[in-house]
Amino acid sequence: MNRLFLFLGGMMKKRVLAVFLLCLLLLTSCADTTATMKEVQFVMSTVVSLDLRDHATPVLMKTLMNRLSEIDVLMSLQKRGSDIDRLNQSQGEVVTVDPSTYHVIEKALEYSRVAGGTFDPSIGHLVNLWGIGTEKAKLPTQEEIEEALQSRGLENIELLGNNQLRLHGETQVDIGAIAKGYAADEMVRIAKEAGVKSAIFNLGGNVYVLGSKGKSPFRVGIQNPFSDRDDYLGIVDVQDTSVVTSGNYERFFVADDGKRYHHILDPQTGYPAESELSGVTVISSNSTMADAFSTAIFVMGLEKGMDFIESIEGVEALFVTNTRDVYMTSGLRSSFTLTDNTFRLVE
Ligand code: AMP
Ligand code: MG
Repeated sequence: MNRLFLFLGGMMKKRVLAVFLLCLLLLTSCADTTATMKEVQFVMSTVVSLDLRDHATPVLMKTLMNRLSEIDVLMSLQKRGSDIDRLNQSQGEVVTVDPSTYHVIEKALEYSRVAGGTFDPSIGHLVNLWGIGTEKAKLPTQEEIEEALQSRGLENIELLGNNQLRLHGETQVDIGAIAKGYAADEMVRIAKEAGVKSAIFNLGGNVYVLGSKGKSPFRVGIQNPFSDRDDYLGIVDVQDTSVVTSGNYERFFVADDGKRYHHILDPQTGYPAESELSGVTVISSNSTMADAFSTAIFVMGLEKGMDFIESIEGVEALFVTNTRDVYMTSGLRSSFTLTDNTFRLVE
């Protein structure tokens, strides 16, 4: 008896499974693999444009946008209750953060060490003090800057495993220079999982092109750092890679002394990085890394930045100086075209 039931039960299960598989087959064959969709929204304090060139669905678009908001809520320095805010308020207590926050902090520490501290996630105190990009932006006193500099130190960010960390001393964490890169990598991960083969994700100048544009590469414009508008000075032909730009024109304020102060700080001096550079672009299939290194090479300056990027395989960079000279790493020469002749390409 029991065997008969089991046998019949088995038959039923098989039939249900067959019907389910048939439905799945119908659904997937009905899904429009050629469907495209583009959406622009203000997220992560910037204008984000997500352009899906195949396999697009409203559900996927929503998943991508929601993920950006989630990353913003977790990793923002300013948002009360974010993982970073909780960490910065923790006063030496152990804090448990979201696995993605933990991952980004871990990567930030790694890239900071590679870049000799020019990119430094422990400068939260200094970033807050200057407040650039917020309505609290002001020129701090030398004393305040020195105090904020004292609080820096990668060794003060203790990774305990299991998504737990502890901050020592007065150190405050800021991963604002790397979070958008991570977010771009996340867009690519999610889109690929949904079957997307070709897409352009632009997170406020932090671009990721997934796949290619049919048989041709994508053409990505490099921002003209001297223009208020979306003007580009040249184009790079790329596929399956991230193109990340950092510049002194992105966020800045004019202080009472009439001088312009921008948002990329030199962790050595505590002041906005002063070099011959106006903008830099890093090209790498790892956007988290490209974001960290774009900030780093802006601080390093042209010569050191060039040597640094040339020493890393698979990563290229372009440098735009205050005097409109454009320099690039050797691997980029064949894919970059200067389109604005008020700039000069230095071979
Ligand atoms: P990005 O636009 O990627 O170059 O990042 C700039 C942002 O990162 C700033 O708005 C600060 O929040 C933060 N930041 C500024 N200078 C540094 C630095 N040297 N290292 C790490 N983060 C920085
Ligand atoms: Mg960056």
